[in-house]
Amino acid sequence: MSNDLTHVLVDGRVVQITLAGGRIAAMTPAVGPARSVAIPLVVDAHVHLDKCFTAHRTRAEKPGLFGAIEAMAADKAAWTEVDLRARITRGLQDAAAHGAALVRSHVDWTEPAVPLAWSVMGEVAAEGVHLQRAALVSLEVLGDADHGPRIATKVAADGGVLGSFIYRHANYADHLGRVFRLAAEHGLTLDFHVDEGLDADAVGVDEIAQLTRQHGMAGRVLCGHACALSIREDAGRAIAMMAEAGLALTILPTTNLHLQDMAPGRSPRLRGLAPAQELRAAGVTVLFASDNVRDPFYPYGTHDPLEMLRLASLTLHLDPGDWLGAITTDAARVLGAAPAPLAVGRPADFMTIGGADWREALADPRAPRRIYRAGMAQSQGYAA
Ligand SMILES: [Zn+2]
Repeated sequence: MSNDLTHVLVDGRVVQITLAGGRIAAMTPAVGPARSVAIPLVVDAHVHLDKCFTAHRTRAEKPGLFGAIEAMAADKAAWTEVDLRARITRGLQDAAAHGAALVRSHVDWTEPAVPLAWSVMGEVAAEGVHLQRAALVSLEVLGDADHGPRIATKVAADGGVLGSFIYRHANYADHLGRVFRLAAEHGLTLDFHVDEGLDADAVGVDEIAQLTRQHGMAGRVLCGHACALSIREDAGRAIAMMAEAGLALTILPTTNLHLQDMAPGRSPRLRGLAPAQELRAAGVTVLFASDNVRDPFYPYGTHDPLEMLRLASLTLHLDPGDWLGAITTDAARVLGAAPAPLAVGRPADFMTIGGADWREALADPRAPRRIYRAGMAQSQGYAA
């Protein structure tokens, strides 16, 4: 039986976990090999609940990221309140079923007005999961002298995070400077989609690092993607700037592997994943997250950070047991939440996966999982 709590690998030690009153009452050393591994409930630091579950009704006419952006834009006519509520709820429940305690969803914000998805996402809840909203605002709209302050005021009032998509934009440095000033004025944290492509002149992350230092925002700025770092000859210099500025980076394995170097009738040669090992070695906190789920950006998958750890381990040659923080404690800290490590006296919110160690636990996607919330085992194995 792989789901009992008598031989559990926690932080490198085999222990017996005793639960009482919804908390971890004791963790005592156990003799013999582990039967399961355990981690705190996971964090999905970067998803798009407004876009998920649209793959069946969308079709990209062009390959790659910009084809997906066009296909998604064409679908927005169908984003009624009913449609959004159903898909956002399904996405959040999907994350909960995969053991999430904290989810950050970006919300497309392409016009000056508050998007309907922002409001709907503020109303949807799933028990045991905290949902953060990050405004993914067009850089031109957010950098606008009239619209920018209004949007920042709204996002701050709603407890949200401010962000934008940056890819080789004309005048992006001017706009970005205004975005940082807005964040400083409104006490907002920032989360950018940046350099999501394989052009060596996609260097938005350098500008973000510089502005983060300039505004003293170390630990308050998260970047996503930075695919161009995988091909830039001066990546080492950019990574050093990111580390010095106190930036964190989320790598999105499924979406990057799916969209980068995509061309009809031709197999991809470049894989588009930012160099996780070099980033962490330099001092950049690296996270992994689900990003797109069954939409034009990535037509498969589930909201499952553990699956992202498995995929990152394979594609970036990582030892998974050494990167657990990327979907748990590090991710919580970067998102401004208190990390919730497994420890005696703490709430019994954790997940076990069958296996003697992390390699074994991730060897088989069907390895049994059990999710504990306040000491109650809520589900086992994969949920639909
Ligand atoms: Zn994204």
